[in-house]
Amino acid sequence: MVQLTGLLRTILGPASGVFAIAIMATGAAAAPPTVYPAATITVAQPAAMLPTASAPLAVATAKLPSRLTTQANLNLRTGNSTRKRIILTIPKGTSVKVHARAANGWYKVTYKSRTGWASGQYLAAKKPVKSAKSKLPSIPHAHQNRGPNKTPRVVLTYDDCPRNLSSFKAVINYAGKSNIGLVIAPTGDCLVSFKRRYGVDLASLARAKGQWVINHSVNHVDLRKLSCTQGARELRGTGVRTNYGRPPYGAINSNVRCAYARADMRIWTWTRDTLDWMVRSKQTTVARAGAAKRGDTVLMHMQWQGFTPDSVRQIRNRLSDRGIGLCRAYHGKDGKGAVARTPVNLPSSLPC
Ligand SMILES: [Zn+2]
Repeated sequence: MVQLTGLLRTILGPASGVFAIAIMATGAAAAPPTVYPAATITVAQPAAMLPTASAPLAVATAKLPSRLTTQANLNLRTGNSTRKRIILTIPKGTSVKVHARAANGWYKVTYKSRTGWASGQYLAAKKPVKSAKSKLPSIPHAHQNRGPNKTPRVVLTYDDCPRNLSSFKAVINYAGKSNIGLVIAPTGDCLVSFKRRYGVDLASLARAKGQWVINHSVNHVDLRKLSCTQGARELRGTGVRTNYGRPPYGAINSNVRCAYARADMRIWTWTRDTLDWMVRSKQTTVARAGAAKRGDTVLMHMQWQGFTPDSVRQIRNRLSDRGIGLCRAYHGKDGKGAVARTPVNLPSSLPC
């Protein structure tokens, strides 16, 4: 018998054919998901718990818990998939009543008399651990800093807004040709302004060159000053539509986390800040970015000196001198062939 704890949050359900399957309706709009009967469910042990990768998959039996606690601000949805509509966001640390578990590890739960589905990845028997960092609103959590880059390659990221269309095109064209994948984080106001001035969509232009585009709010407000609902509105609006976003100033508190969860977006901050906006020097910005460590996410801005083809080239050379590569432009799902248009939603592991 295995207790359903945090380690078992990422339960695999590949052997569903072996078990009895019950169908439960979840509401008019949602397709009925496949669920195990509430009495006893059998789960496969996640790979992380296995002694070696080649060991056979151990199978253990676990009873469906009557209650589970949210380990993060968690969306309650009409069905057991992130594609289903959000009913509401359950705050972190809330105990919810459990009715069923779907084959994909999602749970049917009730919170404030609303019943829906929530990802089992963020549900556990225990209360969430309060880290010392969560008390400091301006310091982002370490796991967010690198975003979806799990490679040793360095990601150069550029926030806010370019000075003009030609400076933007020069950089993204250079990056595409040089097989470099940058992360571009324009504000919604910036997108609207370029649409008005030049009739172009900056996000689409960058994606066409194999570059990644993330959200950076609509008008660059400190999201900590807004409620969860107001924050989510600021993240949707005219801003970049995608699944990753960077809060202005990297400012994060519980309201901001809640807003991102409600907007269905993950937070990606940075690990190395060049302070390009403060030094306003190409040489210093290039030197700071070029001194990045493996796997770093480097923060720069499109309106300052790090955002030119020559700056990107110099940064790449400095890193390469130390045996460190830059994130590569997107080459499609198979990673082969020519540079391809990046998807609107970033994959959970960036093919850098
Ligand atoms: Zn910014």
